[in-house]
Amino acid sequence: MKISLANIITSGHTFEASEALLRNRFKYLNYILLASFAFQPPALFAIYWAEGLGLTLLEFASFWLVVASFILLRKSKSNYALSVWLYVASPFAISYASLFLTDNDASRTVLPLFSIIVIFFFLGKKAGWMMTLLAYAAIVATLSYDSGLDVRSWIGSSLLIIIVSFIFTFYDDMHAANARELERINAKLESLTVTDKLTQVTNRLGLEQILAQQMQRYGRDGRAFSLMMIDIDYFKAVNDTYGHLVGDDVLIEIASILRATLRATDYVGRWGGEEFMVVLPDTPHHEALLIAEKMRAAVEAFPFRHVGHKTISVGVDTVAPNERIDTLLKRVDDYLYEAKKSGRNRVCSAIEK
Ligand code: GH3
Ligand code: MG
Ligand code: MG
Repeated sequence: MKISLANIITSGHTFEASEALLRNRFKYLNYILLASFAFQPPALFAIYWAEGLGLTLLEFASFWLVVASFILLRKSKSNYALSVWLYVASPFAISYASLFLTDNDASRTVLPLFSIIVIFFFLGKKAGWMMTLLAYAAIVATLSYDSGLDVRSWIGSSLLIIIVSFIFTFYDDMHAANARELERINAKLESLTVTDKLTQVTNRLGLEQILAQQMQRYGRDGRAFSLMMIDIDYFKAVNDTYGHLVGDDVLIEIASILRATLRATDYVGRWGGEEFMVVLPDTPHHEALLIAEKMRAAVEAFPFRHVGHKTISVGVDTVAPNERIDTLLKRVDDYLYEAKKSGRNRVCSAIEK
């Protein structure tokens, strides 16, 4: 066993970056376990001196629960909750056993509180309230036992227990709400980085991620995808005649026409300027051609505000075995160029596939 602080606080386990919270919990649990070990000799001495041999032996016996907790934690990460329960079982047992062995009220009333705090801290509010109920059940049980204890101190500690439980519940809920809010903001930020501000479709960064994903899928399962590059015909004339803002409106309209003609599993994005790209997962060449033609016709038929009718040119192709993304992009771009050269408002691709 390697003995270093880093090894001890992680119980010898490794933690992923996403397990930062669990790693922290292991750290603090090991800290209090180490503190319990250090605390043992003076505690045994003090208990023997104040309470006599009976409770000292009990303390020594319950100490082995702490040792078991430490060992179990090192055995497996999944022993975490069990280790916490074992750890608190020790002071809990002491506090109730001491009822029969001593007249000291203080340890009976304070130690359950300690167990409750530890459970709330390490296992959250559900387990925390279980511990609170356990503590109350024990209090009720001991109230019926004529041990000559001070009822007022029990009432005081009961109040304290309930207050502490509520404070921890509040803290736990607040923490959960913060975590949810952070998750929501993260998801929003993530979607902002891959969304085109003007047209609200995927931007180039998002398209590049989608293409990389599709290439990976094709390499792994052989699921071929098709790709379309779309360019608006004579778009510069729109800006020159009606101004940039009207040009922007046309871009927004075209993006939504493209989106509307696609299936939910297809992707449309703005590749740049007035060029769009469509990615069609699991789509063979002849199907991609049909979809491209449907899109071309939909744009041609649409009456744009101010501008009237506009058309698009489209280059289409399907991923081929052993190719890289740039060779596919180049082919699709070449087909788009061909569509422009041969008169625009058309779809170009390989003749036979
Ligand atoms: P072609 O049929 O050959 O594609 O002709 P075109 O006029 O569409 O081609 P060209 O590449 O010469 O012009 C593209 C124009 O798109 C130029 C640029 O001003 C315009 N454009 C690019 N991005 C935007 C944008 O975000 N908003 C607006 N309004 N115009 C844009
Ligand atoms: Mg262009
Ligand atoms: Mg153009």
